[in-house]
Amino acid sequence: KNVLVIGSGGREHALIYRLLQSETCEKVFALPGNAGIATEPTVTSIADVSESNHADVVKFCKSNAIDLVVVGPEAPLVDGLADSLRAENINVFGPSKKAAQLEGSKEFMKNLCRKYNIPTATYEVFSDAEKAKEYVRTVTGAPIVIKTSGLAAGKGVIMAETVEEAEKAIDELMLNKQFGDAGDTIVIEETLFGEEASFFAVVGGDVAVPLASAQDHKRVGDGDTGLNTGGMGAYSPAPVVTKEIEEDVMKNIIEPTVRGMREEGCEYNGVIFAGLMIDEKTKKVKLLEHNVRFGDPECQTLMARMESDLCQLLYAAATNNITDDDVKSVKWSKEPAVNVVLAAKGYPGSYSKGDEIKNLQGAEESTAKTKIFHAGTASGENGEILANGGRVLGITAMGTSVKEATKNAYVAIDKIDWPNGFCRSDIAYRAIEREEG
Ligand code: ATP
Repeated sequence: KNVLVIGSGGREHALIYRLLQSETCEKVFALPGNAGIATEPTVTSIADVSESNHADVVKFCKSNAIDLVVVGPEAPLVDGLADSLRAENINVFGPSKKAAQLEGSKEFMKNLCRKYNIPTATYEVFSDAEKAKEYVRTVTGAPIVIKTSGLAAGKGVIMAETVEEAEKAIDELMLNKQFGDAGDTIVIEETLFGEEASFFAVVGGDVAVPLASAQDHKRVGDGDTGLNTGGMGAYSPAPVVTKEIEEDVMKNIIEPTVRGMREEGCEYNGVIFAGLMIDEKTKKVKLLEHNVRFGDPECQTLMARMESDLCQLLYAAATNNITDDDVKSVKWSKEPAVNVVLAAKGYPGSYSKGDEIKNLQGAEESTAKTKIFHAGTASGENGEILANGGRVLGITAMGTSVKEATKNAYVAIDKIDWPNGFCRSDIAYRAIEREEG
């Protein structure tokens, strides 16, 4: 199969890395890709087509006999790229614009949960600030969670400790429009307690194929402190997600979501990334959020562990033709994978670009279980690798234990020569603590 992958992050590099090892995959094209993707053997990077120009993407697919398009990030999905491709009979792994509401509208997601009995925090939706404040004063009290219904880059969630804080948050989101139109409608929901984890499933037609679990570190600083980021590291599997919990998630969250989406007239195709809250005492799982794409860096840990043919699975999903054999053939390494993100100093605030990063090959060869995925990198005039973003590299390593995998990742990082890069020094600390009892 000839595959076109849309996106330029560590997630897309990891997907391409696994596609290249798929027996059913012939050629891989990356639009636009990054410097690391460009160095993967046999990958062709496309620089002269913009993903936002759907007609050009269609034309490219037709003239290069593309059998499958894999859309990495949410923006092109929300922009309807999958619809434009399907309208031209091009197979695409990724939801339609309408189905992407599952991530783009919390009101839609929560109402789906209510209608199809999917366990989630109890909630109400408001588009009137006075009514919202009255609801908090007279019904919920605090602590309480206030969220924009629309996308706000992970920042539209306020965990209010008091009623006053909640009222202030409602004013900020709805009246002062801190996140623009995203806050015209808000969701007010019960605060959940427990441990967070992510679970991923591939969906095509009526079938949902369980993939694996992961956990990430969103905060920039050690000990999970400091500002929120796109993710500073991750590991898979998440030790908290036992076999029983996985079955519970498939039966009570993923499968009813797939059924509900179909009944609502927006049949789902693509990956479902469920953000979960797991109560440690009762082991009950509730859905915090759905995302319509792989998480990054979680995807890097999943792809490091995958041992089956990714191309075959995504093609079967994209063509609504997942067979029992496809489900059974999905295989994972028993070894855990850990990802540590190397970012530019200053991230998630402002940072400089253009530094040369040296000795990546030496770092990658530091152990046989290490792979460096690129995110914000560009190629210099002489083929050197330059920093070109906030999150720049994802050092992903396996090991016989989480502790060993983490060590392998940090050994590689020590070999990378980039004085302006930084990373957290405690990725996977909770998983290691759990492992050591
Ligand atoms: P992101 O895209 O960054 O994951 P988002 O804007 O889609 O965020 P949510 O996933 O709903 O928003 O919430 C972000 C984070 O806020 C969650 O990962 C969780 O830590 C916390 N959170 C959200 N809702 C609740 C809740 N009801 N109880 C406890 N914590 C919550």
